[in-house]
Amino acid sequence: MQYFNIAIDGPAGAGKSTIAKAAAAKLGFIYVDTGAMYRAMALYALEKKISPEDEAEIEKACSQADITIVYQDGKQQIILNGQNVSEQIRTEEVGNMTSKISVYLPVRKKMVELQRQLAGNANVIMDGRDIGTCVLPNAQAKIYLTADTRVRAARRMKELEEKGNLCSLEAIEADIMERDYRDMHREHSPLKQAEDAVYLDTSHMNPEQVVEQIIAIARKQGLCLAVP
Ligand code: C5P
Repeated sequence: MQYFNIAIDGPAGAGKSTIAKAAAAKLGFIYVDTGAMYRAMALYALEKKISPEDEAEIEKACSQADITIVYQDGKQQIILNGQNVSEQIRTEEVGNMTSKISVYLPVRKKMVELQRQLAGNANVIMDGRDIGTCVLPNAQAKIYLTADTRVRAARRMKELEEKGNLCSLEAIEADIMERDYRDMHREHSPLKQAEDAVYLDTSHMNPEQVVEQIIAIARKQGLCLAVP
């Protein structure tokens, strides 16, 4: 059976996960958050006190870290060596470490394999940095989601505040810019818009409008589902 795959890529804080989650719920698709997988790998490296510069140790860690995905009440859970780390991976410290270790090919190979397995077995909306360009080049619908850096920083700050973490807007913006630069300039699977992806700037859109747009793009690409 041919499943329908929607690929969403874009820089940090573009709202990819919020949008992809909402669109998946509307379409009855499975949402796959690939950043969470890389984050789990980074958490492992942090716990083992491995330097992000130590490529050999990071490569070794790839075979020691067993990362799996399970779904509980439709929500993706990340399991690292038997432990559910879905909450723990959401800190800025882990986010930063993640973009440092995800430059390495062994890390990427491990994650891409898992991601392709998931997309081969269900209708998915998958978000990340290299989904349309590398993981699912044949995805039927591809979207490159972005927004002004300031807007993305403000959204991220709100998310962090809701979890009780206070940070300055300037610090978050600097962090996002550093992370984007690294993600866009790495050797393997850098973040870039796939040639056949639709570019969507969400700076002046609310989440509902973005979800509508994505569903419209998927329909244009052949998705025929009755959506409430
Ligand atoms: O999307 P999220 O902020 O959770 O991603 C964290 C980091 O994981 C990104 O900054 C990027 O370095 C890495 N990543 C990646 N490829 C993906 C998803 C995430 O390299 N497909």
